[in-house]
Amino acid sequence: MNDRPAPRIPSMLNAMTCRRLPGGCDDCDAYQEMSRCADGLYVLTVHHDPTCPYLNGRTA
Ligand SMILES: [Zn+2]
Repeated sequence: MNDRPAPRIPSMLNAMTCRRLPGGCDDCDAYQEMSRCADGLYVLTVHHDPTCPYLNGRTA
């Protein structure tokens, strides 16, 4: 019989760690970066462009 292990979501997150994902801000060419802080804990950070109007306190 098939005895395959169930898909593990943490493995998928591991694959995304330290990768830059485009998007995250409508006002600039931002990217998002997944960081692993601890086992099973991931943080997604948005990096804005230095010229981003959102960063400069102006919201459209
Ligand atoms: Zn931005």
